[in-house]
Amino acid sequence: MYLKRLELSGFKSFAKKTILELDSPITAIVGPNGSGKSNVAEAVRFVLGEQSMKSLRGKSGTDLIFKGSKAHGALGRGAVSIIFDNRKRVFAKREGEETGINVDFDEIIISREVYGDGANSYLVNGSQVRLKDIMEILAPLNIGSSGHHIISQGEADKILNSSIKDRKEMIEDALGLRVYQYKIIESERKLEKTNENIKEAESLRRELAPHIAFLKKQMEKIEKAREMREELKRLYFEYFKREDAYLKAVGNKLENEGAVRKELNQLDSEIAALKRELSLSPENEASNKKRSESEDSLQSARNKKDELSRKLGRLEGMIELEEERAGEKEHSSGNLGLSMVTIYEVEAVAKEITDLADRALLEGNISFFQKTILEIKEVIKGFLKRKREFDNKAVHNKIAEKLKGLKEEREKIQKELDVCLREEERLALEIEKIKELQEGAKENLRDKERSFFELSSKRSELSSRVGIIALKEEKLRSEEEDFRREFEEAVVLVGEEIKGYRDFVLTPDTPLLLEEERVPQEDRRKKIERIKIRLEDAGIGQTEEIENEYRATSTRDKFLETEITDLKGSKTSLEGLIAELKEKLDIEFKNGVSKINKEFTEFFHGMFGGGTASLSVARREKKHYRSDIDEEERELFDKEEKEIEEGIEINVSLPQKRIKDLTMLSGGERALTSIALLFAITQVNPPPFLVLDETDAALDEANSRKYGEMLGTLSKLSHLIVITHNRETMSHASVLYGITMGADGISRILSVKFDEAVEYAK
Ligand code: ATP
Repeated sequence: MYLKRLELSGFKSFAKKTILELDSPITAIVGPNGSGKSNVAEAVRFVLGEQSMKSLRGKSGTDLIFKGSKAHGALGRGAVSIIFDNRKRVFAKREGEETGINVDFDEIIISREVYGDGANSYLVNGSQVRLKDIMEILAPLNIGSSGHHIISQGEADKILNSSIKDRKEMIEDALGLRVYQYKIIESERKLEKTNENIKEAESLRRELAPHIAFLKKQMEKIEKAREMREELKRLYFEYFKREDAYLKAVGNKLENEGAVRKELNQLDSEIAALKRELSLSPENEASNKKRSESEDSLQSARNKKDELSRKLGRLEGMIELEEERAGEKEHSSGNLGLSMVTIYEVEAVAKEITDLADRALLEGNISFFQKTILEIKEVIKGFLKRKREFDNKAVHNKIAEKLKGLKEEREKIQKELDVCLREEERLALEIEKIKELQEGAKENLRDKERSFFELSSKRSELSSRVGIIALKEEKLRSEEEDFRREFEEAVVLVGEEIKGYRDFVLTPDTPLLLEEERVPQEDRRKKIERIKIRLEDAGIGQTEEIENEYRATSTRDKFLETEITDLKGSKTSLEGLIAELKEKLDIEFKNGVSKINKEFTEFFHGMFGGGTASLSVARREKKHYRSDIDEEERELFDKEEKEIEEGIEINVSLPQKRIKDLTMLSGGERALTSIALLFAITQVNPPPFLVLDETDAALDEANSRKYGEMLGTLSKLSHLIVITHNRETMSHASVLYGITMGADGISRILSVKFDEAVEYAK
């Protein structure tokens, strides 16, 4: 017995805060029609979480709040609290309960508030909770949501009117089995959610599958590429080790050979010095000049000598000739040219001749011609004789004079010739001397020239060697460049660890041949090239990204897999739990029903003085009404969509009557049967309280008495709150409340005595 009181504030006609102490076995509420009695019953329904507005006689949440009257304004909030005594911890948490609501208090206050906007809030001891929490903490008290323990006005035969399924729910509630139902519903919800999650996870996995397959293939490619890279690394190690050694060896060798350059430089400077010496020989030049001058002088001296000699010879001849002429009596003037003839003399002779000739021509006979010619001969002879006699004297003089001149000339020339001869001699001597000097110089020059040519040929040899070295150096540089490039490429392809090639150990059977043939090394390089191409063909780009993605994706897949396994596990256990709960519910329900049946028969007997009444578990086909399909289709559907409904059937048999069908009972009989059943249920599993709103309205006096007696029995197990106009009922009440409503439309409550109550009820 743990109901304490009900508090109303702003709920329906209870505008002011109103407290009803309900801790007596039977509390009767009396009052005139429309004073607000039923509002009290509804307040109880409301606070226990009723969701049906119809059951609360309203259309919306605002209908539950005091609407106001002429004298009093409307309110914005309606609230009801029901207070239970929890010193015995009837609300105590039971094992396995999941509810997080703290019910460890001596007093439990359950409150519900409704606001102007229709919103509701639920509280347990002032803390906001969900409706579900209220349901859960109430379920063990056998006062579930079916509200079977609150019989509203006009609902006395409610249980007879309801469907077999609703009846079953009521009885489950009454038997405190709703907890199982909640658990089953909860578990089924979880199961559904689990199934959804499984579906979702499986579909996610299915979605992942092709991606994983793709990534796996990529990973295989990556693995292959990795192997290739490994192979490449090994090849690179050997290649670089050998190449490095080769380049160093060649480098060293060339450096040694490079010494030849110094030699060449040395040689060049020697050659330059020699060249200078050879080109700069001024004495030589001077002596050459002198020599050629002397030779020229000598030549001209000789020429002069020859000329003088010739002149002298001629003079000698002339002198001899003149001396001879001087010795002769007659000199041919012709030779001397002394006998000059004037033109007059010649003209005179020519005239003589011409005249003779002309005469002869005139005569024209030979003898005359002959005589003329003789005469002409005589003329010419005479001329010449005259002429010669004249000349001889002049010639003599002339020759003597000429001889004297010639001899003087000869003496002069002779003197000149002597000078000339001496000069010639001197010059010849001088030239001889120069020649001697020059011979010595020439010898020296020839030595120098010889060494110049020697050095030159050595130089050209060295220079060609240097050229070869330069070529080799050029080649080395290009090889070094190749090495560097190749190495950089290797770092990109294989990674930094390629730098460790120096530590690579060559297999003993292929030792490091520094001057090895380049062919094997070239082969290695080709092999490397081939692998590089293959690697490139593999086309693995962002390896790390793919690996990461593969890891992430397969982790996700694994996660999904285990999640599916887990989910399936919990699905199985949920299914097990549901089955178990259902079985338990079934067993307890059947047990409960058989217990109720025992009580039901007893109460029925008490009410009707005989007959039988029992409950039975029934299965019925549920009817479907689908308005969206026509008759024909419906038939088809009906065949497929037959749903079996399980519920409770009520079987009665009144004494002395053969009526078995409930619909054939009278109003009073219906009320009595209902009350008997309600009381039987209450007896088996008593709720903390029962609210009976004019359940006795249809009873005649005799039955009212029986009803009153039964209330007495019942009130030993549950608090009874009866709203009544029935005097008999009032007489059984321990506390009586009278409700009045004044002109202000506000319900007020006051304790009344029995007599007053009777008065009130009128
Ligand atoms: P009866 O004996 O005829 O069954 P009753 O005492 O049970 O009557 P109720 O039905 O509880 O009377 O009360 C109805 C009264 O409550 C009416 O007067 C109605 O105006 C009033 N009422 C209902 N809802 C509100 C509300 N929201 N605000 C103010 N008054 C309300």
